[in-house]
Amino acid sequence: MKPKLVAKETSAKFVKIRCPKCKNEQIMFGKASTIVSCLVCNKNLAEPTGGKSRIKARVLEILE
Ligand SMILES: [Zn+2]
Repeated sequence: MKPKLVAKETSAKFVKIRCPKCKNEQIMFGKASTIVSCLVCNKNLAEPTGGKSRIKARVLEILE
């Protein structure tokens, strides 16, 4: 049973996320210190929260 991984704070190195708006998939740095935007539609997908990233997109995969 897999838990839902939505709007999750992560300290993983890299995470694969899917933009909820345009379905674009991209890999982002898990500890991004800047806002991560979708490469296609420019939607804000994640923002930094004190060393971690608060992800506001669907997390498809966590790449440790
Ligand atoms: Zn997008």
